[in-house]
Amino acid sequence: MNQRPYKRDCSDACCLKLQNICVRIGNETILENLSFHLHCGEMTALIGPNGAGKSTILKAILGQQEYEGVISFSSPGLRHRRSPRIGYVPQSPTFDPGDPLSVADLFVCCQTSHPAFLGHRKAMREHILESLGKVKAQELIDKRVGALSGGELQRVLLALALDPVPNILILDEPFSGVDVTGNEELMEMLNTIRQNYDLSILMTTHDFSTLRKHADQVILVDRTVLQTGTPERVLSSNEFSQLFHRKEDTQ
Ligand code: ADP
Ligand code: MG
Repeated sequence: MNQRPYKRDCSDACCLKLQNICVRIGNETILENLSFHLHCGEMTALIGPNGAGKSTILKAILGQQEYEGVISFSSPGLRHRRSPRIGYVPQSPTFDPGDPLSVADLFVCCQTSHPAFLGHRKAMREHILESLGKVKAQELIDKRVGALSGGELQRVLLALALDPVPNILILDEPFSGVDVTGNEELMEMLNTIRQNYDLSILMTTHDFSTLRKHADQVILVDRTVLQTGTPERVLSSNEFSQLFHRKEDTQ
């Protein structure tokens, strides 16, 4: 875990800032005056009950959701880049089990304008193998996407999100559909990736057990930010126990 000293306004640090974000859909207020900082190189977990607005926050950062307020990125080391490169792993997308689309085809569809049914060239295949190698999934290249297990699909989607390597990697509930052993493996892998590529990770999760070990910062939200800080601070807060009635589960 990182313990980097920052000025309170992060003026000296690489940082994604959300300031006073409000999202209204119809008459409903989904997010209200929500503010937090995401420090580069850190792993941040966004937690909160179902319907708290976690996925909406991610969509706002990705530019897929209209919002009021300011989302800005500052990076003293990347002077020419005003907006960060973002990699995104969506929450459990489903693929038809009978669909003939292979993992290699999926990469071709996502990364080239070449129709996947025309096959792919040797150089492209080597590139895909290199990408899958980042998440130890090279053996999946010819498997059908619809036949992958939850954990295998997560790794393939992660490889896609890391190609090209982003400044910020966003994952929406990466552990849903993955078993407990898979959770720990995926978290270890994410931490290694974070260190190797010096990127920031923002994930939503309900798996509180792995946070103490792996997260630098936890943000508890329910329409707005209720608590933020180290996993110890947030998971032992009154706000957390009031929302989840399960303080004892996290000890
Ligand atoms: P979470 O990811 O924390 O479970 P979401 O961000 O998916 O929560 O949703 C927050 C709230 O916004 C929920 O009440 C949900 O019903 C509502 N919501 C999300 N997207 C839409 C939409 N497109 N139209 C109407 N309501 C929406
Ligand atoms: Mg969600």
